[in-house]
Amino acid sequence: MKQKIQQIKEQFNEEISKISDLVKLAELEIRYLGRKAGELTQILRGLKTVPADQKKEIGQLANQLKQEMVEKIETAKKVIKGQAISSDWLDVTLPGVQWPQGHLHLVTQAISEITEIFEHVGFVRRRYPEVEWDFYAFESLNMPPDHPARDEWETFFIDPKPVGPKGQRVLTPHTSSGQVREMERKHLPIRMINISKCYRRQIDVSHAPMFHQFEGLLIDKDVTIAHLKGTLDYFAKQFFGPDRKARIRPFHFQFTEPSFEVDVSCGLCGGKGCKMCKAGWLELGGAGMVHPNVLKAGGIDPKKYSGFAFGWGVERTYMMKAGLSIPDIRMLYQSDLRFLNQF
Ligand SMILES: [Zn+2]
Repeated sequence: MKQKIQQIKEQFNEEISKISDLVKLAELEIRYLGRKAGELTQILRGLKTVPADQKKEIGQLANQLKQEMVEKIETAKKVIKGQAISSDWLDVTLPGVQWPQGHLHLVTQAISEITEIFEHVGFVRRRYPEVEWDFYAFESLNMPPDHPARDEWETFFIDPKPVGPKGQRVLTPHTSSGQVREMERKHLPIRMINISKCYRRQIDVSHAPMFHQFEGLLIDKDVTIAHLKGTLDYFAKQFFGPDRKARIRPFHFQFTEPSFEVDVSCGLCGGKGCKMCKAGWLELGGAGMVHPNVLKAGGIDPKKYSGFAFGWGVERTYMMKAGLSIPDIRMLYQSDLRFLNQF
């Protein structure tokens, strides 16, 4: 019996020294100390049959071994758990953590796209101050003080009264304020695309108090309405798609003569007429031939030079392209990723 206990002890010591995971350790515990069929458990149970003179010695040996085993198993458990925590082992086959990938905001995307389309036909991107003199925002554009046309622009004023020869300061109500500034640079001919923030006292589903406009200005010798029409049609096809068309309708603006409203053919019904359009057309914005008084305000001789201008909202134009998916302009400013991630 003594020999058997010694044998179990050696066998156990050898096996536990090779174990490096908790599952195998639990199996080992069951094999030696399991209540039903553990090897040492059976020895302890068999003590009844041992002759009385050997009982004490063998009982002591067996119980001592049991205690040793329990202690060794506990120690091994701690070692294995500790290794698991401090281990710098890396499973390279596991999929990595995927960080969300962002993209430029829709308005930024639209500005880049519009800029690129006009750059292809020789226009140069310009930016002019967002806090502007009345002179550039209104007066040089053929709208003298108290002219009723100014009422159409619900303007934010910085100064309550004129503070210098160029009047009072305003937040740019439209990108047209860049027209005379560009002319004053005296670099003719002009092919400018001015994209900037504009501010007006308005807010509803299609108007925000701050929005972006883009404004094209071309001044050269012998420029006609045909050039304007061609440019607008080019833009409609590039931005909205090759099957779209642009048309102009007579309108009135102070700073252009003649003036037009620009429409683009409806992409939903293909120009047949539907709920989203007016008889197949969607309104884009204003355009016209630069008024002689505006050329004069910019120091350009209207007898030698002529030109055209057009301008409308970036957000509005983008919403027309996106169609039904952007029903409210304010969604473009809410930074809601559930909405923005769709584009
Ligand atoms: Zn339609």
